[in-house]
Amino acid sequence: MTEIPALRLDPPPLAGDTALAQIWDALPEARVVGGAVRDLLLGRPVADIDLATSRPPDATAAALRAAGIRVVPTGVAHGTVTAIANHRGFEITTLRRDVETDGRHAVVEFTEDWRADALRRDFTINSLSMARDGSVYDYTGGIDDLSAARVRFVGDPASRIAEDYLRILRYFRFQSRYGHSPPDPATREALRSGTPGLARLSAERVWMELRRILSAPDPVAGVALMAELGVLQAVAPELDPARLAPLQAVGAPPDPILRVAAMLTGDPIVFAERLKLSNEERDRLVRLRDTPTPELSATDDALRRLLADYQRQDLIDRTWLSRGPDTLRHRLAALPQPIFPLFGKDVLAIGVDSGPAVGLLLRSIRDWWLAGGAVADRQSCLAELARQACVPPASAQDAEKEVR
Ligand code: ATP
Ligand code: MG
Repeated sequence: MTEIPALRLDPPPLAGDTALAQIWDALPEARVVGGAVRDLLLGRPVADIDLATSRPPDATAAALRAAGIRVVPTGVAHGTVTAIANHRGFEITTLRRDVETDGRHAVVEFTEDWRADALRRDFTINSLSMARDGSVYDYTGGIDDLSAARVRFVGDPASRIAEDYLRILRYFRFQSRYGHSPPDPATREALRSGTPGLARLSAERVWMELRRILSAPDPVAGVALMAELGVLQAVAPELDPARLAPLQAVGAPPDPILRVAAMLTGDPIVFAERLKLSNEERDRLVRLRDTPTPELSATDDALRRLLADYQRQDLIDRTWLSRGPDTLRHRLAALPQPIFPLFGKDVLAIGVDSGPAVGLLLRSIRDWWLAGGAVADRQSCLAELARQACVPPASAQDAEKEVR
């Protein structure tokens, strides 16, 4: 049966990709599927290129190997092999249809039917496929939805959600990136009534999707809709959706942790542990809570003092959270990093016995240095050390020589 493509991109958009050409030489029937076709049609940068083939997985692997392409059996049970061409990985999956679903995982069977494979995908804009010659196949009306910026489930939204509740969160991932039109009534109702099923998802999955939603250039409308339908409360009740728009209004960067910091009403550690954020993400949330807000009226001395004690990026992030002006951020970015120029050995060198006194004296000099705007150089700090330790400045000068 010959299929008729919905449209033909001319010239074929990926013709210049030599790694992909090697794969197509080995598997001429393979098509690029999913997000890559969607993003190519929109003219957006394409991240990963995934392919599908009508061959069974072992035949796929054999054809690739025969062409000298390295194959990693990444998910053979699901029908996926990874081909490595020009040091890039391409996931190639045998066409599938769902046999059984349980709310998250599906039992699949392999098929040679491109339409069946398209129909098991989540959204029409994600169900397009493109052959080597630039022919785009559309079994679900994805091209129209793409041009209308409409995120629409393939098939009946309620049934598709009941097959896999992750699709609720995926809806908001794609809605916040590609959707301008609001969901139709059936989709709204399916999203709303599916929320109890979100409890089946692992914390890692939930956070992975939430982070993606909050990485979109402008997630305000999507997050508001999540809250309106009860989805946000189901997965992250400690996030206040109303706090996102003000952050967005001052032009803050599309940074998911900064956005969480703005929306978070509870303890960052509790939130981070519940949703299993990475240690790095958790630590940053805690620092964003504990870093002081640089004041609008701060002098350069005051800003240098802050820079001596806190991370520059955290201070800049605090100005976003307080919706401070760009000038404050520019000043924070431009000031050189103040570095306290004395060490414990400088205190020992002037004859202070090792012990708690060394640390106390050093801290006291550092306080003096901070009070002066963190500008005093090593010479002046050594002089202050001598003064505070009640030794003649000369021995401080000797200490200086020893260090050099
Ligand atoms: P992104 O640019 O965010 O990676 P993507 O479209 O590539 O977008 P993936 O999560 O990488 O999204 O999934 C790849 C493709 O697999 C999707 O485009 C969709 O066709 C299909 N897919 C992935 N997860 C599901 C799911 N839970 N239910 C149905 N189809 C899915
Ligand atoms: Mg992807």
